[in-house]
Amino acid sequence: MLKQQLLSEEQAVNNLQKIDKALTKSEKSNSLQQIISYVQNTVNSSVEQHKSLSEELNKTNNEISELKSKLSKAKQDAISDSLTGFLNRRGYEQKLTDIDIRETHSSLMIDIDHFKRINDNFGHLIGDKVIQKVALSIKNHISDIDIAVRYGGEEFMVIIVNKPVNEAKNIAEQIRLTINNLKLKQKNSDNFLPQISVSIGIAETKHEKHWQDLIQRADKALYEAKLSGRNRTKTAT
Ligand code: GH3
Ligand code: MG
Ligand code: MG
Repeated sequence: MLKQQLLSEEQAVNNLQKIDKALTKSEKSNSLQQIISYVQNTVNSSVEQHKSLSEELNKTNNEISELKSKLSKAKQDAISDSLTGFLNRRGYEQKLTDIDIRETHSSLMIDIDHFKRINDNFGHLIGDKVIQKVALSIKNHISDIDIAVRYGGEEFMVIIVNKPVNEAKNIAEQIRLTINNLKLKQKNSDNFLPQISVSIGIAETKHEKHWQDLIQRADKALYEAKLSGRNRTKTAT
C-alpha cells in the first residue's frame, strides 16, 4: 500500500518535471512558475515523509519477527529440560494430548542405578554429565514421534508411540546395553568412571483413560527391576 503510494508520488514528481521542461521560458508566467514549484515542493516532501514511514514500517516488521522467534524459543524452553533437551514434567502432559490413548503405545520408566554414588564420589558436575550421556543414549534409540521426558533428577520416562510391548522391550534392552557399555572418562584425566547401569520398567496401554495410569504401571515394573537386582528391564503384567 505504502509502496504503491510512493510509486505514484514518484510518477507525479516525474510528470511535474516533464511539464516544467516542456514549458519554454517565455510561456512561463511568474505565477505559473510559482505554482509548479509549490506543487513540486509539496509532492517532494510527501515522498520523503512516506519513504521514512516505509523504512520505519520495515524496521517494525523486523522487530515483530524477532519477537515472534524469541517467543517461540521461550515457549520451547518453558517445556524443556535444559540439561538434556527432553521435555520437562510441565511439557509432556501437553504433548500427550496429541496422542490417542485408546491406541497401542508403550511406556518406559528408566532410572539410573546407584546414581547417588556417582555424585558422592565424583561430584555433582560429573553427575550432570552422566545424566546427559544417559539421555543421549535414550534419544539414539527412540524415534522423533516418541515422547521423552526428564521425569525426575536421574529418572526418564518415554512414551513409545504406536508400538506394542514386545517392540518396546527390544528398544529398552538396546538402551540398557548401550548405557552399560558407555566408557566415560573424566576430562583431563585417564580415569574412567565406573560402569553405569539403568533399570527400566515397561508397560503397554491396556484401555487406560489416563496416561498417568500407564506411567504408574511402568513405574511399578521399574520398582520390580530395582528389587530384582538392577541393570535389567521388567515388563508390567
Ligand atoms: P537407585 O539405584 O535405587 O535408583 O539408587 P540411586 O542412588 O540412583 O537413587 P536415589 O534416589 O537414592 O538417588 C538419586 C540421586 O540423584 C540423589 C540426587 O542427589 C541425585 N540427583 C537428582 N537430580 C540430579 C541432578 O540434576 N544432577 C545430579 N548431579 N544429581 C542429581
Ligand atoms: Mg536411581
Ligand atoms: Mg530415581
